[in-house]
Amino acid sequence: MTTCMRSVSAIVGFTLGLTACSGSTPEPPVSTVVAYEGATLITGDGGPPLGGGVLLVNEGVIADVGLAANVTVPDGARVVDLTGKTIMPTLVDLHGHVGFVDNLSFDNANYTRENITNQLNRYAYYGVGAIVSLGTDPGNLAFELRADQQAGILGGARLHTAFRGIARPAAGPGAPTMRPTAFGAETEEEARARVAEIAASNASFVKIWVDDRGGSVEKLGLDLYRPIIEEAHAHDLQVIAHIFFADDARELVAAGIDGFAHLARDVEMDDELVAAIVENDVFVMPNLAISERGRNSEPPAWVDDPLLAESASPEVLARIRESYVNRTAEAAARGTESFAAMLRSLKKLSDAGARIVLGADTGVQDHIQGYMEHRELELIVEAGISPAAAIRIATSAPAEVLGVNTGLLAPGKRADFIVLDANPMYGISATRQIASVYLSGQALDREALRAGW
Ligand SMILES: [Zn+2]
Repeated sequence: MTTCMRSVSAIVGFTLGLTACSGSTPEPPVSTVVAYEGATLITGDGGPPLGGGVLLVNEGVIADVGLAANVTVPDGARVVDLTGKTIMPTLVDLHGHVGFVDNLSFDNANYTRENITNQLNRYAYYGVGAIVSLGTDPGNLAFELRADQQAGILGGARLHTAFRGIARPAAGPGAPTMRPTAFGAETEEEARARVAEIAASNASFVKIWVDDRGGSVEKLGLDLYRPIIEEAHAHDLQVIAHIFFADDARELVAAGIDGFAHLARDVEMDDELVAAIVENDVFVMPNLAISERGRNSEPPAWVDDPLLAESASPEVLARIRESYVNRTAEAAARGTESFAAMLRSLKKLSDAGARIVLGADTGVQDHIQGYMEHRELELIVEAGISPAAAIRIATSAPAEVLGVNTGLLAPGKRADFIVLDANPMYGISATRQIASVYLSGQALDREALRAGW
């Protein structure tokens, strides 16, 4: 009986075999494991790549990973030959903004379920597996989308949110259309109450803006951000500060800040500040690609990358090109100098062992979601950081900060990975040579997404 059914089930599948055999010894199920074989594996831990590795995925989770000799592929596993390819974890970006951009328009009227869902697909298309919307989500929608993704009924890059951040009244995000999303606080009581509200929303972080916007607004001061940090820590939440000035960074570190959404942009960060950041285990987002624009007096090469045109419309690309038209050589020289200082700050932080995590600030006008994360990686390497370390900065390091089970090719992690046609260890731009993207073990239909754009 069993023998007979085994031969039947081998032809028509396990389900029929089980039905026919009900009451007898159940058939061993056909393996649900998929074995990705032959690729070079970059695990995301900063270590050297594994040539000819095997990645075993079972029901959306990584079951095993390693050199072929050390990984046992179970009988009945489906084998996918990826010889010549490279596999790395999907990117985790701790600084994005969802819902404001829709092609040429940058407006809070675009903050809809449909638009955000589309944007999460854009991130995923480029291999970003998780994104934190950093303090500009005005209502419950981001939480609803996050819940739908957790329930498995919505795809795209996993959305995390810092809900609404805190600034002094009308002194939050730089873009006027985003500014009302920040909670305003003028007194310690208000500041603490806002943090309690953010904590009750089940947000991932508390975002604060500590910036006078070129002297145009009143900066959130120590009198307010100290109680915010204290209150957030009492609620087990980390606080991330938008900063511009190195002096603010210094005081924020002393006050117990957990992370920075930017490098200092007024001066190169000095050794003392770098040491304080390391000593207090503050994480830092380089956020280079927006500042980089200041150093160009003509459109940079990436604007012509065909990969960018796969999601960005010709009108948007034209507007990006146009933004460089009236730049003077003097302005570009000043921009080059201040950008070089940022790169030096980043290198110092890296050499000193600071925790550096990807934060690209995508989703503001003409800063293309998913694509600019790859530009950010190139700039991190330009600062003098190795490709292996840069990939760690964009994968496992931010995943650890966010506390999510992704960003690393390791047993038990979610099977979120990118298959590349080239190895980024030999040139970080290879992270853009994307053959396919997998989220929870499922291949994204990139062709269908592209067709939709
Ligand atoms: Zn931002």
